[in-house]
Amino acid sequence: MTFNIDKVRSDFPILQTKINGKPLVYLDNGATTQKPQSVIDAITDYYTHSNANIHRGTHHLSNVATEAHENARKTVQAYINAAHDHEVIFTRSTTESVNLVAFSFGQAFVKPGDEVIVTAMEHHSNFVPWQMMCERQGAKFRVVPFDEKGDLRLDILANMLNEKTRILAFNHVSNSLGTINPAKQIIQMAHEAGVAVLVDAAQSVQHIEHDVQALDADFYAFSGHKIYGPTGIGVLYGKEKWLDALPPYQGGGEMIDIVTETHTTYNKLPFKFEAGTPNVVGPIGLAVAIEYLNQFDFDEIREHEDDVLEYGRERLNEIPGLTIYGNSEHRTSILAFNITGIHHYDLGTLLDTQGIAVRTGHHCTQPVMAALGVDGTVRASLGIYNTKAEIDAMIEAIYKVRKMLGR
Ligand code: PMP
Repeated sequence: MTFNIDKVRSDFPILQTKINGKPLVYLDNGATTQKPQSVIDAITDYYTHSNANIHRGTHHLSNVATEAHENARKTVQAYINAAHDHEVIFTRSTTESVNLVAFSFGQAFVKPGDEVIVTAMEHHSNFVPWQMMCERQGAKFRVVPFDEKGDLRLDILANMLNEKTRILAFNHVSNSLGTINPAKQIIQMAHEAGVAVLVDAAQSVQHIEHDVQALDADFYAFSGHKIYGPTGIGVLYGKEKWLDALPPYQGGGEMIDIVTETHTTYNKLPFKFEAGTPNVVGPIGLAVAIEYLNQFDFDEIREHEDDVLEYGRERLNEIPGLTIYGNSEHRTSILAFNITGIHHYDLGTLLDTQGIAVRTGHHCTQPVMAALGVDGTVRASLGIYNTKAEIDAMIEAIYKVRKMLGR
């Protein structure tokens, strides 16, 4: 189907909402995206017609629910082009996916004196779990800096990778700068040094390329709620050879094979990493969200979002005293800025009175804020349904705030 923005907007019922009497301008997609009617319907339909616990039932509903859940795994597999469906582990979120790898990989492969590398532009959820793992294992935690434009210092990374490095974790797209990191190149550099790589795709999987085999990622994590699916469902992709080699993260039902008083053996992939009753409906909703995106040519989505992004940068640059953060040539979806003399929180709150939903603060990237020398920014983040008219509404609202505050 060709990309028709009016049709797309009509697919997301919440976009009709009025906030403070003004039409909602939803520019907080980096935090979470809105859901198309098809996803909302799929969740209602599941609870209306198919609800049951999965994998162990003998009855009809359990079989229906199991099939829907497992078909969803195949939809995710196809979307990220994983070689096998059992390389797709369902988790709660990106956060849980990263914690799983940090815990299990750390336990299996990281010993005192080893090194782990992340970047200075990571979300806390791809930073703190590695720091914690390094503390547990006695390993050295190393951080790749970025330059003034917001590009990673690959020259420094090249010098950091060495025979003690066990794993490198980085985001494909930064949630506070919008930089698209050259993931393929970085992964190649790491692999040449014999280092495994985890890609945090929370801000990329919905906007740019997302082929795990083309990237050659060892691990790849994202959240359903940022790709127009429900909250509470995340994905961890891992290459089979790695997932086979890692010990389980949590113990409980489903992840076992044989349990005795003296020893437990574990289930095959992906169930080894899915202890307990899972979020059954989450993957089903996520699969419908992916099907929603799949109806378009992905390049058209990208083109539309880039068009709105560049228009947004142009319009923001007109505003006196405004600084944009994140000026990489390779960028997507994020407009982060401050205006001299106006606190980001005040600006965000006053924009809300005009129906404009943006995020303010450190965006769970305190090391990025430290590098920029600010305590926070305003962040407008784009999704498939945003328009240039909404950018105009935000700009007009910013001018009103300036006037109100005498700036
Ligand atoms: N990584 C990045 C780059 C993110 O933007 C986010 C969410 N803002 C996360 C990880 C964490 O996602 P979640 O809270 O869904 O686990």
